Amino acid sequence: MRIAVFPGSFDPITLGHKDIITRAATLFDKIIVAVGKNANKTYMFPLEQRLEWISETFENYPNIEVDYYTGLTVKYAIEKGAGFILRGLRNPADFEFEKAVAQTNRKLENKLDTVFLLTASGLSSISSSIVRDVIRNGGDYTQFVPEPVRIK
Ligand code: ADP
Repeated sequence: MRIAVFPGSFDPITLGHKDIITRAATLFDKIIVAVGKNANKTYMFPLEQRLEWISETFENYPNIEVDYYTGLTVKYAIEKGAGFILRGLRNPADFEFEKAVAQTNRKLENKLDTVFLLTASGLSSISSSIVRDVIRNGGDYTQFVPEPVRIK
């Protein structure tokens, strides 16, 4: 089975993430959307909330699973039987950063490869951090996030 792990913070999940994940779902037998728990990071939304939004976003996609993990992404991916890590690329800054991460991960675990999909045009300006700013300042965030992401 071709399994890919899509790791990220998803704080919150955006239409950019959703686009990459749904497109990749046709390329792999299974995608595991994995929320990384980083003790040094502070998040706007609690883990449970982020997981719930992701699960609801993909409830009609039988080959997309949702999970969370701590520690090394490569270790988690191997434990899950994955052969691939999936990441999205928006711009040259993403490329430089992702290249270093992917090459490091390959040194840590050469059985894993990272696969990149380019963001759809129109979605490349969306980032979770900008969405958080819009939310904090009372703007219309709903145009940037999947339906289930609604802040009460
Ligand atoms: P991280 O904390 O690892 O940066 P994110 O949740 O911000 O986690 O991002 C996870 C992945 O989603 C990364 O590969 C990132 O490049 C990708 N991504 C984020 N926003 C978009 C977007 N608008 N279009 C395509 N990919 C995106």
